[in-house]
Amino acid sequence: MNNFGQLPPIRRNPTPTYLKWRRRNDGSLKSSGTAFIRQVIKLWRRSLEMEVDGIQDYVNMLLRSIFFLGHIHDPSLHPTDFFESPELWNKLTRRFPQAFHNYKYPPHRTPFSILLTLAVRIYGHEDEDEIKDFLLNFLEALTLPPRIKGASNYTHYYTLEATVIAVCYNETSGDLRPVKYYGASLSCRGEREKNIMINWSCLHVWHDYVSYAVLSFRHDEQGNGIRFPVTVKCRAFYRNYQTNRYEDRRPCKNCGDLFSLSNPEMDRNDFPYGNCAETECLSKLIFNDQDVRNNMILGSYTMENLNSLRKMAKNAL
Ligand SMILES: [Zn+2]
Repeated sequence: MNNFGQLPPIRRNPTPTYLKWRRRNDGSLKSSGTAFIRQVIKLWRRSLEMEVDGIQDYVNMLLRSIFFLGHIHDPSLHPTDFFESPELWNKLTRRFPQAFHNYKYPPHRTPFSILLTLAVRIYGHEDEDEIKDFLLNFLEALTLPPRIKGASNYTHYYTLEATVIAVCYNETSGDLRPVKYYGASLSCRGEREKNIMINWSCLHVWHDYVSYAVLSFRHDEQGNGIRFPVTVKCRAFYRNYQTNRYEDRRPCKNCGDLFSLSNPEMDRNDFPYGNCAETECLSKLIFNDQDVRNNMILGSYTMENLNSLRKMAKNAL
């Protein structure tokens, strides 16, 4: 249940260090969540003028996803904790009742992933730069202090930003331009939070093939990956905090293991299998592209194997 293994065991009288840690960590999700919601509301108001289809649903999903992360946070945050004024809170409970009623159940995606889907909805799938600019402007408007690697606040700094975004498509020959699918890495922090989101996604969100690969690396001694046809291209980007631009990055070792992506990093990373942006976009691609589904190499995937792995994910939840 500990985040980063740094919480001391529960005791009657918490030490001053623990209280200080709690205050600092609580502040970071609380302040970043408050800033995130403030920008979402601005976006919602602007989108109403632009008549973005379905914006109401996106705001509902975004609020609910942030409230859920507050709910499972240690110490837990109530939705009211993310609002500076009771007026706004009252107004939003009437406008977005589902978000306020359902927030104790896991959402299908973390907030940044929902924001990315909204960007694709507004700008269409083709122009990656427009989507990136939208995200960069949103992040800049949060005006959160920059994360400095190596500084003591780095590990606990909770920005709700996905570190990496990814795009993939099936480049079949012909005149049609391929549909691009986007994904974001999990925009929640903490081992417990990530485990909940990954297990939930393997049970209810990701395509069976992706869930199988992720769960098999999480639970089997020897993980079994899946392989995409060579026509599938996948690229990932991380945000350079100094320039506020997205830059290309190679797939991590986990993605090499799970999906046999070419030229992966060889170093191990600290993130659990399933955390990566590639997981989300490749799952969307499989759902939507029959040609990809027909030409995948699935290794030892069977429905039976997947079901027994899913039982473990269920127990872990
Ligand atoms: Zn990865």
